[in-house]
Amino acid sequence: LVSRKNKSEDTVIDIKGEKVGAGELTHVFGPCSVESYEQVKEVAQAVKKQGGKLLRGGAYKPRTSPYDFQGLGEEGLKILKRVADEEGLAVISEIVNPADIEKAVEYIDVIQIGARNMQNFELLKAAGSVKKPVLLKRGMSATISEFINAAEYIISRGNDQIILCERGIRTYEKATRNTLDISAVPILKQETHLPVLVDVTHSTGRRDLLLPAAKAAIAIGADGIMAEVHPDPAVALSDSAQQMDIPTFENFIKEINKQQPVK
Ligand code: PEP
Ligand code: MN
Repeated sequence: LVSRKNKSEDTVIDIKGEKVGAGELTHVFGPCSVESYEQVKEVAQAVKKQGGKLLRGGAYKPRTSPYDFQGLGEEGLKILKRVADEEGLAVISEIVNPADIEKAVEYIDVIQIGARNMQNFELLKAAGSVKKPVLLKRGMSATISEFINAAEYIISRGNDQIILCERGIRTYEKATRNTLDISAVPILKQETHLPVLVDVTHSTGRRDLLLPAAKAAIAIGADGIMAEVHPDPAVALSDSAQQMDIPTFENFIKEINKQQPVK
């Protein structure tokens, strides 16, 4: 059902009036983790000032170590909703437990399924059963075909509001946290009718590579960029090495706004 052979026109996802995949670029910015109301508010105001409509923030954090910050859970979703309502933004947040999907849709506008859960089939089925857009990230060891099949799980349950997100894959290369598989973007655009975003934060894991990676993603036909922004990355509770502070973010927007989407 996600195949171009089945539907030739591009799927456009309407998130509170922001149309993803309609030809204009749609970017998603926000902190890695929701840490406090004040932190989310500061980033939200910066995003809004730059004309952004979509705010991200993790409440349920899938961390490699159980001793690392695990996220604020439902409290984090409440903070996101409060800030989104105050600032007129839409929010995207990762859900890791199928049982949390129904509750989460009351707080968030887009359900994110993270790389580690791309083949959590019960979670995919649960996300397929609600009427909410889903941002599905590519698993770090998933082939493009497996990624497309994961989207198929969602659409086959009745939810066709799916945004694909390339976020880098594991290779032998150690210079970056993951290897951004840039060619996945045109392949996904050719093989499916879904919008495709590129997460430059988790693919590179390096602040100095965010801008060149974003430029490459736009040049190759991505529908938008995801990147992490924090008021003070040095003290961030997760992904401190690659989040942008607000002045860096403002420059990032200025630079990527020079680029036009590729049709
Ligand atoms: C995230 O976007 O917060 C995240 C954890 O990313 P990924 O699932 O791609 O690692
Ligand atoms: Mn992160």
